[in-house]
Amino acid sequence: MTDLHRLSIRELSEGLAGAKFSSRELTEHYLKRIAKLDTQVKSYVTVTAEQALAQADAADAAIKAGTATALTGVPIAHKDIFCTQGIKTTAGSKMLDNFISPYDATVVAKGKAAGLVTLGKVNMDEFAMGSTSENSFYGATANPWNLGHVPGGSSGGSAAAVAADLAPFATGTDTGGSIRQPASFCGLTGLKPSYGRVSRFGMIAYASSLDQGGPMARSAEDCAYLMNVMAGHDAKDSTSVEKDVDDYVANLNGTAIQGLRIGIPKQYFNVAGLDADVKARVEESLKKLEEMGATLVEIDLNMTEAYVPTYYLIAPAEASSNLSRYDGVRYGYRAENPVDLMDLYKRSRSEGFGAEVQRRILIGTYALSAGYYDAYYVKAQKVRRLIQQDFLKAFESVDVIAAPAAPTTAYKIGANLSPVEMYLGDIYTIAVNLAGLPAINAPVGFDKDNLPVGLQLIGNYWSESQLLSVVHQYQQATDWHTKRAAIAEENA
Ligand code: GLN
Repeated sequence: MTDLHRLSIRELSEGLAGAKFSSRELTEHYLKRIAKLDTQVKSYVTVTAEQALAQADAADAAIKAGTATALTGVPIAHKDIFCTQGIKTTAGSKMLDNFISPYDATVVAKGKAAGLVTLGKVNMDEFAMGSTSENSFYGATANPWNLGHVPGGSSGGSAAAVAADLAPFATGTDTGGSIRQPASFCGLTGLKPSYGRVSRFGMIAYASSLDQGGPMARSAEDCAYLMNVMAGHDAKDSTSVEKDVDDYVANLNGTAIQGLRIGIPKQYFNVAGLDADVKARVEESLKKLEEMGATLVEIDLNMTEAYVPTYYLIAPAEASSNLSRYDGVRYGYRAENPVDLMDLYKRSRSEGFGAEVQRRILIGTYALSAGYYDAYYVKAQKVRRLIQQDFLKAFESVDVIAAPAAPTTAYKIGANLSPVEMYLGDIYTIAVNLAGLPAINAPVGFDKDNLPVGLQLIGNYWSESQLLSVVHQYQQATDWHTKRAAIAEENA
């Protein structure tokens, strides 16, 4: 079979269960594609071919023995932020270029227990700081829709791998948009769950009160399969919730579009820098949902202007604290021939961290320093609460809130935006993390350069099933999620 990479997760699951093909065949098929096509996409940092084939054989045995789950034998790519026992975990940083974790992240362990086959680890902005994946020690990843453009970030490797059919689906993490924005830039579906829905254990920390893992795939249905594996309480993560997990696949048609109230924040569609094509495609998708029975309700989100400054104080503040562990002593990069301990710390951190990470450590350390703590950090926390209240008030009158995932389509590689320009691109995604809400991106068409545009739907707490269901039904009625980039059409 030459077209195994065109099958949905459900089709893969059924094909494996029905012995139409084996996990070994499927895994070899993907490894062949990676070997041929990833020289152009550069989505993988590490390909784990040998281990993948061993896992595939074990999966085939489990299928024969009747002990398989729905996903046994299905390949996956993990963002290189999830710790993998015995396999390098770099977080896109020179600091961790030699790091092999002694344990698996809970998300990885759950994937293994479900019989998923790990193809490898995919590229990302260093420590998940960025929106292009260019901040990786391992170099830029290309957008499969146009190899001269970025796939977005920080989960750019995950998005590019799936969009080029170099993995059927992938894990990502989202601290301020890192699942939704690359999904948008690459024409994929990506879900950022409510804070606490997915375990952060073994997920290398960027900003702990914002970080959340989630699925990236072609469709809401594919995401639902992966959510069924990823979601759930974990005793090893004290911020994970002890709340029953939905069956996201079974609930795919569980939310009625008829009568669904979709909030359209006035402020979001007046943002300077909102690209005309992005605006048009998002509005067309909302029109479609309206035709399907939804009601569009104009709402106010008055705190919109505060999103970027608030996020860019809190996220770097937490990052500066989290990243203090990389000191050149315990693990990770260590500078050569230090003259004393201070020199070891200084040079290990200066040489091991890239420019954007250093910038954030400086901003965060400044915001947390004794003289500025109240003026910056405490104030940002208060504004954060107001942002959350703004959303909660909106959810009194609407079921979901619609927004673009990003104001533009994918940037050119090397566009070299200033940090502030870059940060402004996060306007539509970061408030969701500040509030801890779930949100999903769905592909809804293309701009004039044939680059994908995404619609973001934000839900109330624990409404992952609802978001997946709304997007699933939209995808049953449209075909944007089935469009493939030229490189994905190539055979290996
Ligand atoms: N682009 C945002 C940042 O650089 C979000 C990144 C993320 O979600 N990890 O912080």
